[in-house]
This record gives sequence, C-alpha cells and structure tokens, in this order.
Amino acid sequence: MFEPDIEKMSLSDIRELQRERLAKMVKYSYENVPMYKKRFDDAGISPDSIKSLDDVSKIPFAVKDDLRQHYPYGILAVPLERIVRLHASSGTTGKPTVVTYTQKDMDTWNRLMARSYAAAGVTSGDIVQNAYGYGLFTGGLGFHYGAELLGAMVIPTSTGNTKKQLMMLKDMQSTVLACTPSYALYLTEAAANEGYDPLNDFNLKVGMFGAEPWSDEVRKRIQEGLGIRAHDVFGMSELYGPGVAIECTEQNGLHIWSDEFLVETIDPETGEVLPEGERGELVFTMLTREAMPLLRYRTRDLAVVNYEECGCGRCHPRIMRIRGRSDDMLIVGGVNVFPSQIEHVLMNIDGVGDQYLIVVDRAILDVLQVRVEVAPDFFKSADYDAARFAKLMESELQAVLTIRARVELMEPGALPRSEGKAQRVLDLRKQ
Ligand code: ADP
Ligand code: ZN
Repeated sequence: MFEPDIEKMSLSDIRELQRERLAKMVKYSYENVPMYKKRFDDAGISPDSIKSLDDVSKIPFAVKDDLRQHYPYGILAVPLERIVRLHASSGTTGKPTVVTYTQKDMDTWNRLMARSYAAAGVTSGDIVQNAYGYGLFTGGLGFHYGAELLGAMVIPTSTGNTKKQLMMLKDMQSTVLACTPSYALYLTEAAANEGYDPLNDFNLKVGMFGAEPWSDEVRKRIQEGLGIRAHDVFGMSELYGPGVAIECTEQNGLHIWSDEFLVETIDPETGEVLPEGERGELVFTMLTREAMPLLRYRTRDLAVVNYEECGCGRCHPRIMRIRGRSDDMLIVGGVNVFPSQIEHVLMNIDGVGDQYLIVVDRAILDVLQVRVEVAPDFFKSADYDAARFAKLMESELQAVLTIRARVELMEPGALPRSEGKAQRVLDLRKQ
C-alpha cells in the first residue's frame, strides 16, 4: 500500500474522517465561492446545518452546467495566483469544462494516483508506458505524475503512433501499460498484425485502463491477448482526473478513495438518495479540494456502490462495474439499453471481432442497428456464413436484452479504431 494509514482505515473511521472534512469543506465553500453561498442562502441552510454525513443530502446538487456557466474561473475559491495547473474536458458541445488546481490539489491528486497504481500491484521497480493523451485531458499527466511519485519509471508515449508504441513495449520491456481499454484492445490486434507475439516479446504485467466503460468480455480479451492483469480506473476531470477509484488486485469493484471523496447514489429522475446497494447515478462531494470545491456533483454515471470490506483488506467502498452515463442510454423498442450491455452480448459470441458500432438515425428506435466486425480467423474459415452469423447475433441480442436488432457484418479492419476514448455510437441525427 502506498498510504497504509489511510488505505487500511475501517469504514467507521473513514466515515468519521469524512464527517469532519465535510463540515470544514462546506464552510470553506460557503465563505469562498459566491455560487455556493447563494445556493445555501436560497435553500435556507447554513454551513452549520451540515453536521452528520446524512446532512449532505440537504445541499443542492452541482452539475456540469454550473462549471460552464461560471466559465472559466467563476467557482474558484482561491486567487488565480495560487493556481498551478489548468485542465479542460473535450467540450464537444460549446465551451469546454475548465478545472483548476492549487499545489495542494496537485499533491492530493498525485497521491491518489500513486495509491491507485500500488493498489493494482504496481511498484517502484515498474516501467510504465503511458499512452493516455498528454495535454488538456487529465489522463496523460495524471497517470504520469502518479507513477513518478510511486518511484516507477514513466515512458510518456502519449496517444497514437501505434507502431512506435509496440516497438517501445518490446524494446523498453515496459511492465505497465496505461491507456484506454479500447486502445489496449487495438494494440493487441496491431501487435499481431505487426508480427509481435505479446506473450513472448513484451514484458507487460499490469494494465491501468479507464476513461470509458468496458465490459468483462473486453477485459478477458485484453488480459489474454497481452498476458496482463487489466485494472479498471475511474475518474473525471471535475474530480481532479483519473484516480478517483481503482480496482485492487482482487479485481472485484473499484475502491473509491473515500478520505477524499464522499459518494452518494441517487435516482437520476427524482434526485432521491437511494439505499445502499441500489444502482443509480453517482454523486461526489470532494472533501479537501482547495481551488475548485465541488459539493454533490452529479456525474451522470450509473453504478452500484458496495460497502462491504474487500478481500484486499481495504474498506473504502467499491463501485461495481460502471454501466455508462445516463446520457448514453438508448431506448430501443421501449427497452432501455446501454452500449456496454450490447458489447457484453456481442463479445460473448465466438467469432465476433473486437470492434462494433451502434448506429442511430431516428429519434425513436424500434430496431437496434449495429455494425459488427468479424474476427479475422473466423472470417477466413470455411465455417463462416455471413447470413447465419448475423442472425445468431440478432437472436442473442433479442434473447438477452429483449431488443430487436439489425446486425450488419463488417470485414476485419473495416471499423475505425480508437486511440483514446472509443466512439461506440454513431448518431446520424447529429450530422
Ligand atoms: P470528458 O469525457 O467529459 O471530456 P473526462 O475525460 O473527465 O471528461 O471523462 C469522465 C467520464 O469518463 C466519466 O464521467 C465517465 O463517464 C467516463 N469514465 C471514466 N473512467 C471510467 C471507467 N473506468 N469506466 C466507465 N466510465 C469511465
Ligand atoms: Zn480491494
């Protein structure tokens, strides 16, 4: 463990620490950020009314739009001179979401990342090849400084340049690969195409994969293809970046570093706090953020939180696999489905390749349209019968998800590969 004192805390000690920090954070936000002062005043609550952890539900939610409306520096709690770093999210619609950090925030983030690496079994002796994008995106620098703090060696390859990535994996004998799961999958395929045998030529042992949802089937493919243990890492730029939660070596849920983050699960429709163990939208309160406090931030990410002690001995609650964002949900023939569920069904079928693309072209979907690549070996084999294979997928989707589907088979290599976050849905309505 990187910080055993914190990582080994019992759940009741964690809660006590959270309670103390929450009270301080609420006061700090009220006194230093006009947006919070106004919200508290409008809701008729004072910082003193937040005493227990349950009182957190009295605080109004914060949403991404609050950050946009206060673009760029509007919710700073410190003078600009004290900011040492700025990141921004992609911002596909309108202005990007800007996030800022004081030196103390940077130290906290780097510690959380170092802790996350260590929880995944990475040590100071490891060589980390970091293929997350360096730049405004928090992935690159987050994974970079966390590894350095742990004392590991970092190779900052950043995204893309796949041939060079493969050469570095072999020549440098990198032991840890950090990138999106979709890029890890692509690297597995590219390695074969370039004549590498990952199990012999590479020396990888751990993968630090996050920034997008991925299914257990994809995990299996990456683990087998690269000969590694693939760990899920969760984060978002609003909450420092990656390193909010990490899968330990038990690979059974992602520990939320709860000395820094208080999590709640809410009903996304009504905003009601849900009982422990129910799936809902994750809401985070940052407990020590200095530059840009976030109280009850709605993430749109849907998951279940588990509060049982983990086999690794940590009691920091765990996010069980993240299904996706509520915004990504599709309604097909009246049934709610997430791209991650479709991935789960498809990748369980033998002969299905690594790439698929869901196509949406009408406001109301009665039939799911999905383009699916055939695995190269199967495509070449005598058993391959396109019409029958498409039918099989359609009936599996119908049987498991109860949705009607139209599958269009694609030749291996026909769909675009991703170097960062994969685009699994092509929305023709937006073109
Ligand atoms: P943006 O994509 O808005 O530019 P971020 O890069 O900060 O901003 O992305 C954060 C989002 O990425 C999260 O809200 C979540 O939807 C998704 N995400 C990050 N890590 C994971 C993960 N391990 N599993 C599923 N989704 C994830
Ligand atoms: Zn654990």
